Amino acid sequence: MINPWSSAQYFDYEKLIKEFGIQKPNNYFNFFMFRRHLVFGERGLEYIEYAVKNKIKFNAMTGLMPSGQMHLGNKLSIDQIIYFQSLGADVYIAVADLESYATRGISLEKAHETAVNEYIANYISMGLKPCKIYFQSENFDTENLSYILSNETNMNELKAIYGLTDSSSMLHVNSPLIQAADVLHTQLNHLGGPRATIVPVGVDQDPHIRLMRDLAKRFRIYNVKIEDGKISVYIKGSDDPKNKIDMAIKLLSGHGYECNANYEYRAIYVKNSSPEDKIKIDIDLAVEESKINDFAFIEPSATFQKLETGLKGGKMSSSVPDSLISLNDSESEATRKIKHAVTGGKQTVEEQKKYGGNPDICPVYELYKYHNSDDKYVQRVYDECKGGVRMCGSCKTEAAENISAMLKMLGEKKDESLGKLDNYLIKRSS
Ligand code: SF4
Repeated sequence: MINPWSSAQYFDYEKLIKEFGIQKPNNYFNFFMFRRHLVFGERGLEYIEYAVKNKIKFNAMTGLMPSGQMHLGNKLSIDQIIYFQSLGADVYIAVADLESYATRGISLEKAHETAVNEYIANYISMGLKPCKIYFQSENFDTENLSYILSNETNMNELKAIYGLTDSSSMLHVNSPLIQAADVLHTQLNHLGGPRATIVPVGVDQDPHIRLMRDLAKRFRIYNVKIEDGKISVYIKGSDDPKNKIDMAIKLLSGHGYECNANYEYRAIYVKNSSPEDKIKIDIDLAVEESKINDFAFIEPSATFQKLETGLKGGKMSSSVPDSLISLNDSESEATRKIKHAVTGGKQTVEEQKKYGGNPDICPVYELYKYHNSDDKYVQRVYDECKGGVRMCGSCKTEAAENISAMLKMLGEKKDESLGKLDNYLIKRSS
């Protein structure tokens, strides 16, 4: 079981793919995190591919916990968000100020200050364009929606997904529903209606992703399925389905599909369809459905990224300050941490020259691999290490120079970024 509240790391990515039904991404997205398999898994990513190919609006969503400092490890989700924004996504970012208040005792004022100074200013300096960033404590849409979503799940389901017991905190009941509402509210009609929505996460968040995808489906009237190589659409409910069936057939016929209706089975069979039509039909029907259903959600998609190893090996953790580089570290502080990092190198220079190092277990190599988009350069570092022509001392110096240059850029842009906040922070919803 994957537990989003545990500090466990999930490094056996192949096993995760096999046991939890996570898919491996195809080669469509030409971004270094995909090319290098740092994004190792996905759910429903074909919806985003379809939206990009067909120039249909889609959303990208992430959240931040306003505690501590932003570090290199939690920069990776934003790297993806900025990439998806460059492909046309409307971006939403939730600041989990209520959660940090409830679980860590951080006041809402302090959470606001931390979110802006430690996270959002860096996001803007990294290249995030204007988007919608909100504080959970101020967003009544998500609050109301989480209440409505709660009517479509029960304790048995939450126990099965999260391993909750009778003594589990009710926060672990509320929190998944709030997170589902954070993602799904971006598809409410007054915010643009049903859209494919991408959520880049670490794999520890997969239980939340599975729940929100299931909840999205449960609110739909039109359920699109592939049966015997063709598309069928089932109409949820126990009312007379005639109007809903006729409405869907009118839409599908307008797109050139030939449909047979079975009113008794509440079903439409799309005769001249193929499995490849599922996404198009699902999105088109969701948009049509939103005229009669306030919650015609399209199942959110997710990408799962690998976790960057801490500089001391193991997890990057704020409880081990030298295991991570904060984006607000000074250049000298970052350099010091990198110089003291563990490596995949051999004990002596002679052995390193003779046998080569092991970049595959080296956190210094990960600084190149996770934070430099130049494939040729990163491959050269890998080959030189393996070939014994790269020594750990100079390799660390080079990595420290690269990271310092990035920190310097972020520092220099910070005031300018803070001056642009009005284009990002959205006001309390009513
Ligand atoms: S040479 Fe660089 S990449 Fe190779 S083991 Fe040493 S520090 Fe790591």
